[in-house]
Amino acid sequence: MGTKTAAILLTACLLLSACSANKPESAATGNNQTSAASDTSNGSQTVPKDHNSAGKTTAQHDKSVVDNSKSENSATVAAINKTYHLDKAYNVVPNQEGVEKKVILLTFDDGPKEAAMINKIIDTLDKHKAKAIFFVNGYRVKEHPELLKLIHDRGQPIGNHSWDHIVLKNKSEAEVKKQIETVQKMVKDITGQAPVFFRPPHGAGGDVGRKVAKENGLLYMTWSVGSLDWTMNKSQPNKTDALLKNVTEQLHPGSNILMHELPWTAEALDSLLTRLEQKGYRFVDPQSIEVPAD
Ligand SMILES: [Zn+2]
Repeated sequence: MGTKTAAILLTACLLLSACSANKPESAATGNNQTSAASDTSNGSQTVPKDHNSAGKTTAQHDKSVVDNSKSENSATVAAINKTYHLDKAYNVVPNQEGVEKKVILLTFDDGPKEAAMINKIIDTLDKHKAKAIFFVNGYRVKEHPELLKLIHDRGQPIGNHSWDHIVLKNKSEAEVKKQIETVQKMVKDITGQAPVFFRPPHGAGGDVGRKVAKENGLLYMTWSVGSLDWTMNKSQPNKTDALLKNVTEQLHPGSNILMHELPWTAEALDSLLTRLEQKGYRFVDPQSIEVPAD
């Protein structure tokens, strides 16, 4: 019995150290990517190309990476350890050594718009055991509260993207409070949970946006990798290829990827997530990221 336990422990240790050795040496933090932290950011900024796209890490033992095999609804899952934080360039960074660095945060902005599109996106997320933050606008939630509930009931976290999708940085504090707090209240009324993530429209919240977000226990973020899906249109050919190229050219450990609830993004998502997995990335559970409300 004792020998068996020792053998199991030894095997586990060996596995863990093998996995650690596969991790990239450092997360891409700060330095060349500080432009992403700027309010003038529009997501099309160039960021360093992926230095480690051939990574082979496929292990699935890290608890902070999404594992929804036990429950379909995150709301019913026990509290998840806060093992990551965002750096100044809004990349996801582990809090300590030994936590997987080669992770990606997926986000979808500007919904909720359509049940079919939302279901298609979440079907694909489920297929890849991934979670994403859905940053919603209040005026859309007011039109379709049932779509907000759909996102929540399917176990995906909801973020606050302001009421009107206006540029907030030059607005009064009272106006910014209204833009953010009305969404907090509406989401809480519909789902039972107020958002803990805030993304200012157009990446431009300014000091006032940061302040009001913090007062509401919200983690303020723009993004570090823009999919540029918002620059595409219906008649444009090969949108999936373009989206994959846009993302993979900017990809780095901790990438905070901005996408939108758009039909071509829903269409491209399975190919994109497959490509990211092939490159050795895993999808971080947004609930494992530290927020001011903690
Ligand atoms: Zn937006």
